[in-house]
Amino acid sequence: MKTLLDLTPEQLAAEIAEIGQPAYRVTQILDWVYKKGATDMAAMTNLPAAIKQHFTVLTSRVVSKAESTDGTIKLLVELADGGRIECVMIPTEARATACLSSQVGCGMECMFCASGMNGLERNLSTGEILEQILHLQKESGRRISHVVFMGMGEPLANTEAVIAAIHAIIDSARQGVSARHVTLSTVGLPKQIRRLAAEELPITLAISLHAPNDALRRELMPKAAQVPLEDVLAAAEEFYQSRHREITLEYVLLAGVNDTNVCAEALARIAGRLRCSVNLIRYNPVPELPFDRPSNTTLQAFADRLAKRGVNVQIRRPRGIDADAACGQLRRRLDGEPTETAPPQGEPTGETPAETPEETPKPPEGV
Ligand code: SAH
Repeated sequence: MKTLLDLTPEQLAAEIAEIGQPAYRVTQILDWVYKKGATDMAAMTNLPAAIKQHFTVLTSRVVSKAESTDGTIKLLVELADGGRIECVMIPTEARATACLSSQVGCGMECMFCASGMNGLERNLSTGEILEQILHLQKESGRRISHVVFMGMGEPLANTEAVIAAIHAIIDSARQGVSARHVTLSTVGLPKQIRRLAAEELPITLAISLHAPNDALRRELMPKAAQVPLEDVLAAAEEFYQSRHREITLEYVLLAGVNDTNVCAEALARIAGRLRCSVNLIRYNPVPELPFDRPSNTTLQAFADRLAKRGVNVQIRRPRGIDADAACGQLRRRLDGEPTETAPPQGEPTGETPAETPEETPKPPEGV
């Protein structure tokens, strides 16, 4: 059996021709999966058995669902080989944002992040990335309108599968999300940023900066820092200039580590150079890790300093208070626990708020 979500429309058309079915079946199938969110071939009532038997939609299943009082839904999804990933649906009235994983675990091993604590297990396939959208839609009853690659994994370490998934997400014949509503978040891999710039994908690039100089970057993100910051910034500049596509800098504030005035000034210079906005993220404490979030006063002072330098700065709004909604946290909490299909009802987690991406602001003018 072929996994539908791993196929491009062209590959699907070739499969359909091979089993002697007419070409119009392609549109019917794409409508079922991407427009109607069907997760089961059996539900595709206008298709013949020959097609239903030839394809499958899902290879993964939801093993745990945690729902926050603000409506944020976090799913723990088990893949066919037993690997586990997380995905999140963050709702507002106007939008339903899917936060997707791109890998099982993560090889970047940033010091403050739960996802990389056990290293990288493997890349996700394009289909496994897209299945997360179907699961989130089914579990929430909402159609996904925005996508952020801010779940587990480093999307640009799995570039080809992620690019193929983005094509499916923005294709009007498939998921049909506006490219402007898609954000890819990366630690900053220059070669892959250039690869992304070469695609017809007018998405937003979010760079997880967290450190405005190489010394601090080596401390916080040792793997990512094998590439000098200057190389990352040069690639980001090219990405922006290639079609004036938007770039956001993400900056997780860690008390006493990267929240100083000196850091704020250096970050302002970088944001000015890239003409990009900055998203300040409150650190979501991971029990095993030695970091704390700064006080609100420090956070505000840091934001004010950036704003004074003309930087468009946002403080990311906390969401998913009781849903372990930060990168890698649900998987860690449930690892080793028996697989369950029922959601952990109203279970208090004692977790601090996770963060959600806000609307990406326009880059500041004249800085
Ligand atoms: N690997 C990619 C995407 C996944 S993480 C990247 O690094 O950009 C999405 C964002 O969450 C990144 O900016 C990451 O640094 C941040 N993050 C990781 N752990 C966090 C934590 N405990 N609290 C707050 N943000 C965290």
